[in-house]
Amino acid sequence: MIKKSLTSILLILGLVSTLYAQPALKKWSVAIHGGAGGAPSSMTTERKTEYEKALLEAIAIGEKMLDNGSTALDAVEKVVIYLENSPLFNAGKGAVKSIDGIHELDAAIMDGSNLKAGAVAGLRDIKNPIKAARLVMDSTAHVLLIGEGASFFAKSMGLEVVENSYFSTKHREEQIKRIQEREEKEDPRGTVGCVALDIYGNLAAATSTGGMSGKRWGRVGDVPVIGAGTYANNSTVAISGTGHGEYWIRRVVAFDISALMEYKGMTLESAANEVIFNKITPMGGSGGGIIAIDKEGNIVFTFNTGLMHRAWSKSDGEYGVGVLKGEERTFKRQ
Ligand code: ASP
Repeated sequence: MIKKSLTSILLILGLVSTLYAQPALKKWSVAIHGGAGGAPSSMTTERKTEYEKALLEAIAIGEKMLDNGSTALDAVEKVVIYLENSPLFNAGKGAVKSIDGIHELDAAIMDGSNLKAGAVAGLRDIKNPIKAARLVMDSTAHVLLIGEGASFFAKSMGLEVVENSYFSTKHREEQIKRIQEREEKEDPRGTVGCVALDIYGNLAAATSTGGMSGKRWGRVGDVPVIGAGTYANNSTVAISGTGHGEYWIRRVVAFDISALMEYKGMTLESAANEVIFNKITPMGGSGGGIIAIDKEGNIVFTFNTGLMHRAWSKSDGEYGVGVLKGEERTFKRQ
């Protein structure tokens, strides 16, 4: 009798400890953007399909990692590496050119669990700037490294080095010619970003960009400015932005959204609407938006343009993709 009840107690204890050893809920969310640039009218069905395919491939990487228990930090980095390697987006391969015809890349990553962040600006020869940003966070006492110093550091850490021409595509060559000949205006849109909530309740954000096409030598945008284009804080939200970086810096967009949530108790959706539509748009910063995930795993895409390349996936089985405003396709995982 005693032996029997002892066995039951041990069984119950075992069950309770297993329950506590595992995360209470296997809840995760991941969202990405590939910029909010370009005229919706130029988005042919063919181009849209091409973008959607890349976005779905990218989100599947994050989805698999998070579902298998990876941290949000590792997931956002991996997803952004995929997007940097795709020639479709203004980051890594496919990045825009400055007015002198050179590619200068910016990237940032932030860990919402401890507010650690790493960023690089003005990189010309490192294949994946987001890897360099992660290393700045993990292996230095700093947050932001720029230009030659950033490049020297990335090389010393063994990151892959490429010629500046590696980042070029036919589309970017033609684009900069039109800008140099004043047939087209500079375009500050097309950045990539990823935000995630992992099963441990941690938030992370990563953003990478070629910046603004036709920008001046040395121009740095909002992406590597922590709190402007990239921010993550476990107590509020993870955010990655895209748009005319100068406005994002002046309005400290990502931090402002987090602060409205923290100090005013606003929901993510209303805080994001407030900052994008009531602060950024009236200043003239039309042409961008943000993606964000709050600590509950809610996802928002808030943008004041006609399109934003975007995709998302959640632990409840729902995932989706969209390019044009108001046009999204949602699916259910089996
Ligand atoms: N925000 C980026 C910048 O201004 C550009 C973009 O989103 O495409 O550098």
